[in-house]
Order: sequence, then structure tokens, then C-alpha cells
Amino acid sequence: MPTAMAASSKAQFLTEVHALLKKRYKLEARAERPSILEAIIYGICHEGVAREQANQALSRFKDDFFDWNEVRVSSIEEIQGALADLPDPEGRAQHVRRFLRQLFEKTYGFNLDALAKKPQKEAAKALEEYEATSSDYVMATVVQQSLAGHAIPVDAPIRRGLARLGVAEPDADFATLRGTLERAVPKNRGHEFADLMEELTHDTCVEGPPDCPRCELRKICPTAPLRLAELKLAAKAVPAPIAPTAPGKAPKEKPATAPARASEPPPVAKPAAPAKGKAPRPK
Ligand code: SF4
Repeated sequence: MPTAMAASSKAQFLTEVHALLKKRYKLEARAERPSILEAIIYGICHEGVAREQANQALSRFKDDFFDWNEVRVSSIEEIQGALADLPDPEGRAQHVRRFLRQLFEKTYGFNLDALAKKPQKEAAKALEEYEATSSDYVMATVVQQSLAGHAIPVDAPIRRGLARLGVAEPDADFATLRGTLERAVPKNRGHEFADLMEELTHDTCVEGPPDCPRCELRKICPTAPLRLAELKLAAKAVPAPIAPTAPGKAPKEKPATAPARASEPPPVAKPAAPAKGKAPRPK
């Protein structure tokens, strides 16, 4: 794993990363700004997984339940149904239900949008009362998507990609790493940068061995030369394929058993035993 680079060169390097990823991945336009409640649920669904999966989970909540109150009073098993494709559906279902219960106990409703009119710091402070926002990823999602602030949510896949690129330590604290990114990437590119890093870390820079030969960043990534050398070595270690036989020549095969002596008579087939019962009638 490469060591993290100096802060001064991070901004420049990340600009290059951004430009290369933008060439590779075509992002879809984002939907309209979600409500604060939806951004919290979306953040819970999205952490560690790709956008499409999180969007599908959010759509299932809307299609399968009458409203958020129905989700609040549903069993964990029922809520898990909407989260079935995501890792740890039970843990996520518990977070979703706990948040909705807490929200209902505090406000007797399911609307936090009044906070969007407050200054961002004040709104974020009020949201800290909810257990769901103790996840730095969820809080950053809300700030970025519903409060129009500068936040770049960092989850485990994004940290993995940044560590391989030499921009972060592999075990960096999520909030610290988010702060570093927010200083290095300007606000007007923050959204796009986060989405592109997500594409990268769910496409080539995946968990386990990264797919560097296919990666757009392989020429600037410090991990790529090591991975490419590993792949080269592995390819050399593969035994050479057996040469094909010349046309017309039968391949020489070692007989499985000793050949029968010429003087020996060929084996006689045993006559089949007569079938028991009635013979089937011909059609
Ligand atoms: S070159 Fe390899 S290690 Fe570097 S970002 Fe791409 S996939 Fe990840």
C-alpha cells in the first residue's frame, strides 16, 4: 500500500484523478434535491454500496409502504424486504426504523424540511440529535444533498480507492478524510468527484485484487505498477498449453490397461436377462 502523499500535492493530484475519471464514466444528472428525511434514509442505504442499489431501496420504500409511518410501525423483517439487495439488511433496517421512531417521538411527524431554511451549521447541529446522523457518511449525505453544503461523504470503498491512490492511510478516520477531501476539492466539483470515486470503487478499484489493467488511473496510481507486476508474474507461472497434434496424425495415448494378447479371444458379451413382467405394448 503506498504511503499518503503530502497535503500540498493532494489537490493537484485529485484534480488529475477527477479529469481522468470524468473521461471514463458518464454520470447521470442528479434528481432534484431530496427532503432531509429522504437524504437520511438514502444515506443509510447508500453507505458502502453503489448509487443504483440505494436508489432502488428508496423506491421500494415508496412503493411497498403507504408512508413513513407505516415503515416506523413495521417489523424489522418487513423493512428488510426493501433492503434485501444490500449488505447487512438487518442492521440497516434497524437504523431506518430507529430514526423514524426518534423523529416521530420528537416531532409527531415525518418532516424535517424547516431545517433546510436555517443556516447550515444550525441545521446540522439540530440533526445531531438523531442517532442516524452519528454516521459521518449519513450526515455528509444530508449536508451535500439537502442542505446544499460542501460535503464529500466517504465510506469504506472510497477510502480504499483513496488509499491505493496514495491520498489516504488505509485506516484513516472517515471524518478526517472527508475534511481533507473537502479542502482539496472545490465545492463546485465536490458532488461530481464523490460520484466518480464511487464509480471507480465499484468498477475496477474493488475489494480484493484491483482490476488495474482496466483502470483509467493506472498511469498515475502508485498501486498500479505493483499490481501489474503481480499479474505478469502470475501469467508466466501458468504452464504452457499442450501443442496441437499435426493434422491426420492420431494423438498418442497411453493405454489405460495392458493391451489384450493376440491369442486371446475377444470378450463375449453377456446375453441380456429377459425382462420381468409384461413387455410394453408397441404404440
Ligand atoms: S490503478 Fe488499480 S489500484 Fe489504482 S485506482 Fe485503479 S484499480 Fe485502483
